[in-house]
Amino acid sequence: MSDDPLLAELKERLAEVDDLGGVGGLLSWDQQTCMPPAGAATRAAQRATVHKLAHELFTHDRVGELLEQLAPLEESLPYDSDEAGMLRVTRRAYDKARRVPASLAAEMSHASSEAHEAWVEAREASDFALFRPHLERGLELRQRYIDCFPPAENPYDILLDDYEEGMTAAEATAVFDELKASLVPLIDAVVERADTVDDSFLHGTFPRERQEWLVEEVLQSFGFDRASWRLDTVIHPFALSLGPGDVRITTRFHEDYLPTALFGAMHECGHGLYEAGIDPRLARTGIGHATSLSIHESQSRMWENLVGRSRPFWQRFFPDLARSFPDTFGGMDAEAFYRGVNKVQPSLIRIEADEATYNLHIVLRFELEQDVTAGRLAIADLPEAWNQKMRDYLGIEVPDDAHGVLQDVHWSFGFGYFPTYSLGNVIAGQLWDRIRVDIPDIDERIGRAELADLREWLREHVHRHGAKYTMRELLERVVGTGLDPQPYARSLQAKLADIYGL
Ligand code: ZN
Repeated sequence: MSDDPLLAELKERLAEVDDLGGVGGLLSWDQQTCMPPAGAATRAAQRATVHKLAHELFTHDRVGELLEQLAPLEESLPYDSDEAGMLRVTRRAYDKARRVPASLAAEMSHASSEAHEAWVEAREASDFALFRPHLERGLELRQRYIDCFPPAENPYDILLDDYEEGMTAAEATAVFDELKASLVPLIDAVVERADTVDDSFLHGTFPRERQEWLVEEVLQSFGFDRASWRLDTVIHPFALSLGPGDVRITTRFHEDYLPTALFGAMHECGHGLYEAGIDPRLARTGIGHATSLSIHESQSRMWENLVGRSRPFWQRFFPDLARSFPDTFGGMDAEAFYRGVNKVQPSLIRIEADEATYNLHIVLRFELEQDVTAGRLAIADLPEAWNQKMRDYLGIEVPDDAHGVLQDVHWSFGFGYFPTYSLGNVIAGQLWDRIRVDIPDIDERIGRAELADLREWLREHVHRHGAKYTMRELLERVVGTGLDPQPYARSLQAKLADIYGL
């Protein structure tokens, strides 16, 4: 098939678009990890230019002609073939991208870079007013973006589709309602028994070098490979891949609170493993990337929570932890640590939230995003709306904007991303049920830090396909159903019932 000259021409173009995407990724990685702050204006221009070039190259009339001429070939190919996948995904992306003028795409990219810098400053100063004009500008650009598409039942669906193809706000709401129905009473029951679990030892003095050593031990067991990975320090952790053999992950260290760096690094490593597991044959073809953010998040949440917060994992790693911080953990055992890192308590910061309340942080953001997009809530009123929902859902008072509405980086890039986090939890639960069947001694393996079989299972069933299948197709292939919150809710229920003696 691949000797078709039209297909070869399309592949060449897609390879160049991917290359520009990689360059854009590198500029963004550099901006977040090591660029001096004064470089921000130049960087915003550079990113916008690269973005515009990629957009123009991809949305060129010639791509449309090639797709049209290749339609008969596409139909003749097996659905599962790489070429059919490439044509399918390219066609859909092309139809979307063609609707958006290059000037608007560049403006959005430029505004995001500026908004990111403003967010860093605003968060440091805990001053929403510094970020507000950028959010208003971002919203206005998103409204123009939404207007490029046929009207949706809910305008938010158009934004959500960029992160989770085909998902609608109504579907996500249904999943979240089901999640809330089981999580809210569970959280209430556990909070009543808060004294059962002590996690005070997580606050203390944890010198950075020793945290770095521990993080490295843990990440190596996960599959971090020095030859093709980097770990750097940032304000808001993220992971990205610049292509086969180049995975960049990040974390942040708090010397007075242990979980931030440790579990944050596990989380980003899960993202990195997904990127690293994509079949290198798919690189530079337009499908050599993750299929959706929910699937991405299912991988990070799985490594962070289902592996990293499991009892067998800490039976294996607690001795390393106690050696690193003998003053804190010298007289403790693995079981106490396991219980502590699974303590459920409403808190202010999403990325440090426990497995159960985490989803309420997401629901709060999802609702605010929809209100703002629909024009029911003014940007100026976001901080108060945020604080009110924190009272309603988690029963806590937000002391300042840095610990409230300014805590996340995402709104500098737009709206529509947050639901994918909780959908990722849900998918991780579904995959984990399947993994338990296929690797029945998974707990014992985790207890020996033998994680190669788990990595291989994920690579075989999820990672290697890149974007060839949609999230729904992937779920259907691997677990045989659509999105189902029950496995996740059940496993959390069982874990907390055991820890809290419910
Ligand atoms: Zn993540």
